[in-house]
Amino acid sequence: MTGPTEQDGFETISPGDAFTLLGNETRIDIIRVLGETSDESLSFSALRGRVNVADSGQFNYHLNKLAGSFVRRTDEAEYELTYAGAQVIGAIFAGTFNQRGLTRSFDLDSTCTTCGSVLLVEYEREHVTISCPTCNDQRSTFAFPPGAFENRPRDELVDAFDTWLRLYLTAVVEEFCLTCAGRMRGSIIDDSQYLDDQEVGIEHICERCTNRSVNSVGVYLLYHPAVVAFHYDHGIDLTETPLWELSWLHEQETTVVSRDPWQVQFSSEINGDHLEVMVNEDLSISIL
Ligand SMILES: [Zn+2]
Ligand SMILES: [Zn+2]
Repeated sequence: MTGPTEQDGFETISPGDAFTLLGNETRIDIIRVLGETSDESLSFSALRGRVNVADSGQFNYHLNKLAGSFVRRTDEAEYELTYAGAQVIGAIFAGTFNQRGLTRSFDLDSTCTTCGSVLLVEYEREHVTISCPTCNDQRSTFAFPPGAFENRPRDELVDAFDTWLRLYLTAVVEEFCLTCAGRMRGSIIDDSQYLDDQEVGIEHICERCTNRSVNSVGVYLLYHPAVVAFHYDHGIDLTETPLWELSWLHEQETTVVSRDPWQVQFSSEINGDHLEVMVNEDLSISIL
């Protein structure tokens, strides 16, 4: 195993070495205890007591393996998680690495804006799909951490879907990859293949991990101040309304004005008032 190396001021170990360090239950217990404690840090004896390893030498060996990468020794000679350690405990609690096969299916307390049927939630392969069983269309499909189902009653779970989806879409529109913290690049694409009934969509691809997200033009405009204000003036708070209740996010509300360069016009109509927005080739937005 190679030791830590200095690179551009960062101390790095290879990903393989980092994951090898985690391949031991005692080390995972150390990280878990440090993640669960309400104290900022724990002394050696307090940590050892909570991890419950009788052999002090064994415990010391495993703690030293983690020191410098997932655990750090404070100036007061106590132990706390590093950012990497906190990410590991977060992934464990979210069930990212260790929970599989959870499936759920239930009615949403929300109706289809087209036909009035009750919308259906299905959870499978760590993805949530919200759809209308009558129109047979998918409103939203997104990856969702299985650990979020723990200790959440159904209504809170639905709020959690909406919060998670907003966080994800906000990051995508701002070109930030939540998977790897890399930069995403967006472009307008011909999109009948990915979004039902939509002639065009907005595709974002991460430059680093190639994570890909394709969304409607409506989703891209969801947080634009002019769109938020237009809805607010007509009694609709876009920051509170669940995304699957916004029919214009999923229906064809766009007109392709030009394909080279791309110019796509988005139209919104509420009570006879209109908002017209143009999305340009470089994804800049103009209000018409
Ligand atoms: Zn429907
Ligand atoms: Zn990425």
